[in-house]
Amino acid sequence: MTQVVGGPSLPQERKLVTSIPGPKSQEMLARKNAAVAAGVGVALPVSIVAAGGGVMVDADGNSLIDLGSGIAVTGVGNSAPAVVEAVVNQVQQFTHTCFTVTPYDGYVKVAEKLNELTPGTHEKRSALFNSGAEAVENAIKIARHYTKKTAVVVFDHGYHGRTNLTMGMTAKNMPYKDGFGPFAPEVYRVPTSYPFRDGLSGADAAKVALTQIEKQVGAANLAAIIIEPIQGEGGFIAPAAGFLPALQEWATANNVVFILDEVQTGFARTGDMFAANHEGVVPDLMTTAKGIAGGLPLSAVTGRAEIMDSAHAGGLGGTYAGSPIACAAALATIDTYEKENLTERARQIGAIIDEFFGELAKNDDRIGEVRGRGAMKAVEFVVSGSQEPNAALTGAIAKQAGEQGVVLLTCGTYGNVVRFLPPLAISDELLREGLQVVADALAAN
Ligand SMILES: *Cc1c(COP(=O)(O)O)cnc(C)c1O
Repeated sequence: MTQVVGGPSLPQERKLVTSIPGPKSQEMLARKNAAVAAGVGVALPVSIVAAGGGVMVDADGNSLIDLGSGIAVTGVGNSAPAVVEAVVNQVQQFTHTCFTVTPYDGYVKVAEKLNELTPGTHEKRSALFNSGAEAVENAIKIARHYTKKTAVVVFDHGYHGRTNLTMGMTAKNMPYKDGFGPFAPEVYRVPTSYPFRDGLSGADAAKVALTQIEKQVGAANLAAIIIEPIQGEGGFIAPAAGFLPALQEWATANNVVFILDEVQTGFARTGDMFAANHEGVVPDLMTTAKGIAGGLPLSAVTGRAEIMDSAHAGGLGGTYAGSPIACAAALATIDTYEKENLTERARQIGAIIDEFFGELAKNDDRIGEVRGRGAMKAVEFVVSGSQEPNAALTGAIAKQAGEQGVVLLTCGTYGNVVRFLPPLAISDELLREGLQVVADALAAN
């Protein structure tokens, strides 16, 4: 078998040499269906052999445009050279010790970097884990331990993961929760700010949420409020200005830990290192993962020293948590975001997407809204002349885009949102070509 090497040196082109999926991908998919649990579904049935810059190459030799970054993970690009070098060096030194048995410098360096980069100049601590869900669970553990309270408030359209606690915190039933209960207790859901659908100002939406919290939960029972600054799986819902600051202010006044889940929004994606910065919100705790380590599994909880330090020694950790390999990758990844000024690149990508769909929306009233920040952009599709969600159109667009060689993700509680999360390493030309494929799919459906 010839090995195709990934990274930015891969030809940056869309090239179809078979239909999608091609014969080799189909052969792998047949084996997948026989060997892998059916619950592990796939969005696009291809067998990937290499990826880099803005493309992914499949086993049949097709080169696909990547508009998803493996769900906002490979912001620096797949197999980014600095990440590959750091990982190779680390695996040659040591692969594992378990940080809580015999610690190592890479973990401490990642913690120092996160403490420096996250919002606020107060004293901070970090703890590292493997996945976003694990970071969220630990943020809740820490908030409960610190406040000696138990209730947790989450929001409509929120997504926090697939473990038992985080499933219960996630809003959408299918596919995340259906039949997987019972869920952990003491999780309460309140309305979010969804300007396209509720028409409320940030202050008014916050009043609705906070009134419900006070009447139905009570600040005296509430350990934490957790929210994504832009809701990801729920539909790239950016709250109206003032919503997040109002929640934060109330939490601070009521001895409630305010947690921002920046697992999807973090690390340059929204045109700032963290989405919290767009409104100057300083959370007590922040969870990060996806974009943190160029594709290696790593997540973190970062926050106020007095809250983070409240849990006893041995109370936090995990066998693989903060793996030395993932930490080496994270240091190289974060360095790349900074050195290559990828926050600026994310804003440029966002401007291209805004302009492109802004034009299309003038002549197509099925485009309900184009929204998001930086390179975290979405188009919400509706039935012509209404606000009724158009999931059928959205699914048809994603399907046709895939067949035409564009990896495109959907999201939204109503399944009617196409989301754009291209690698920040994508070229303008490739991005525009990918967007045109989406526009052609829209025109054809
Ligand atoms: C993806 C995601 C999670 C879960 O992360 P995993 O690594 O899949 O466990 C949690 N919160 C948000 C906002 C996410 O987007």
